[in-house]
Amino acid sequence: MGLLAKGKPVADKITEEVKKEVEQFKGKNIFPKLKIVRVGEREDDLSYERAAVKRMNSCKIECEVLELSADISQDDFAQELKKVDGDETVHGILLFRPLPKQINENDVKFIISPEKDIDCFNPINVAKVLEGDETGFPPCTPTAAIEILKHYNVPLKGKNAVVLGRSMVVGKPAAMLLLKENASVTICHSKTENLPDVAAKADILIAAIGKSNMVTSDFVKEGAAVIDVGINVDSQGNMTGDVNTTDCIEKCGLITPVPAGVGSVTTAVLAKHVVKACRQINNNIE
Ligand code: NDP
Repeated sequence: MGLLAKGKPVADKITEEVKKEVEQFKGKNIFPKLKIVRVGEREDDLSYERAAVKRMNSCKIECEVLELSADISQDDFAQELKKVDGDETVHGILLFRPLPKQINENDVKFIISPEKDIDCFNPINVAKVLEGDETGFPPCTPTAAIEILKHYNVPLKGKNAVVLGRSMVVGKPAAMLLLKENASVTICHSKTENLPDVAAKADILIAAIGKSNMVTSDFVKEGAAVIDVGINVDSQGNMTGDVNTTDCIEKCGLITPVPAGVGSVTTAVLAKHVVKACRQINNNIE
């Protein structure tokens, strides 16, 4: 029977480290600050925003939310984002995506300075993830997946990792982060042939496909670590992951639950990224 690897102990440990650093900053009159930029009122954005604000409060990180109307024009949006980026009291900026259709992401993705881009929107940070450059900010969700693997001492070096999903926010950066840990990585997607067979070769399986309970025990190698990034709502209105936990837990070595798995670590990583941005902006003060 596999270990049910909850996110809370991982999030608590990161939160404690962040709190200590925030205290040290305060002694130097520096106050780390996160600005959240939300366009419209999508329920999943609001839910992540509530969790992020709560985490920042517990870390004593200042946090403000800029709410913009769902029908804001491209020009007005760009202006607002430039203002936030130019605010010297702000160290980290979290912009909820996807943006409404009238806003072309390609035209705005360089506006947030790489130093403040704590969730990897700016292509310069994407490049840093590819290069393994640690001054950058990989997206918080795949980083949370790696934090969980490390916390539970899952060996990564030389192991076969399979990532299900190739989005820019989860799948691709998760693959790069695993590669940086010296895993051998396969990325799968909706056109992958014989998906269960490919997945079942993985020592580490990360599911980020957005399909409720799709990953069943035939996708899982005996003893594998299974990280479920999916957040879905099933036909009964319950939150589910991409992995059928009940079916897989007997076979795997470790599995993360949904809820209370990766999602709970994501906001702790966000807080960690805000203090890292603050430290780097203030020239790596001790
Ligand atoms: P996207 O929809 O952007 O990407 C989904 C990926 O899964 C695509 O690469 C797609 O392939 C692939 N895929 C879809 N269906 C299949 C299938 N049947 N077989 C194989 N591959 C498939 O989703 P995201 O990456 O944004 O999110 C993935 C999941 O993670 C969602 O459930 C989302 O809610 C959750 N999430 C969780 C977060 C957290 O904090 N825990 C944060 C962000 C997301 P193709 O490219 O070929 O279309």
